[in-house]
Amino acid sequence: MVVGRVPLIAGNWKMNLDHLQAVAFVQKLHWALKDAKHEVGSVEVAVFPPFTDIRTVQTLIDADKIAFSLGAQDLSTHDAGAYTGEISGAFLSKLNCGYVIIGHSERREYHDETDEVVAAKVQAALRHELVPVICVGETLEQREESGPTAVSVGQLEVALEGVPSGADIVVAYEPVWAIGTGQVASPEQAQEVCAALRTVIAEKLGQDAADRTRVLYGGSVKSGNVASFMREPDVDGALVGGASLVVDEFAAIIRYQK
Ligand code: PGA
Repeated sequence: MVVGRVPLIAGNWKMNLDHLQAVAFVQKLHWALKDAKHEVGSVEVAVFPPFTDIRTVQTLIDADKIAFSLGAQDLSTHDAGAYTGEISGAFLSKLNCGYVIIGHSERREYHDETDEVVAAKVQAALRHELVPVICVGETLEQREESGPTAVSVGQLEVALEGVPSGADIVVAYEPVWAIGTGQVASPEQAQEVCAALRTVIAEKLGQDAADRTRVLYGGSVKSGNVASFMREPDVDGALVGGASLVVDEFAAIIRYQK
């Protein structure tokens, strides 16, 4: 983490918590942070609920002036029309979503999302002023075959095609072998790939963009290991799955500096 970039701790709920559970969760997290006298603004907190929860969470955040950012877990490449089951970036913007996760390895694996689909979704997000959280990462097999950085670098290069240099983006390095497995990457491994990704951003979008863009690590992040990642110069936050569903644990991750 380098001074000047506000750390981002993002909770990817995946297909967990219905809209009623979401209300209870967001309220409890808000109070847990208040009780702990967490300094709002020192860390940006973002939650990524399922689509069906977003309206409810948005209403709660607005009504109670809760300082959490809101994002979606996916969006359509299209803006409107006959695309049954799809959700457009326009709808997400209207719900005050600031972010949208794109290219999560679970979407790449279970929905056959290619690098080209990911790139089209990045464009769709930018059309609607959503900040894309572009996820990249390698499987264990790919790491053994082509080394630690090649797959993530290649995925990001395609995702950034046609992205203007002034665009606001977030990049998340999520090694597939570390997601939901408890087998966490070492801080040095995370740093190596996050630094390589920042170099891609510099090459594609310029040095200013590379300096301001937040690059996150994701994969079995817990309260016990988050600080070790945040000490690395090119890791600016965490994309948290399982541990973002437990109020006290997620609050402890947010308060990693304490
Ligand atoms: P995990 O998931 O924290 O449960 O490993 C991370 C993610 O998929 O974003």
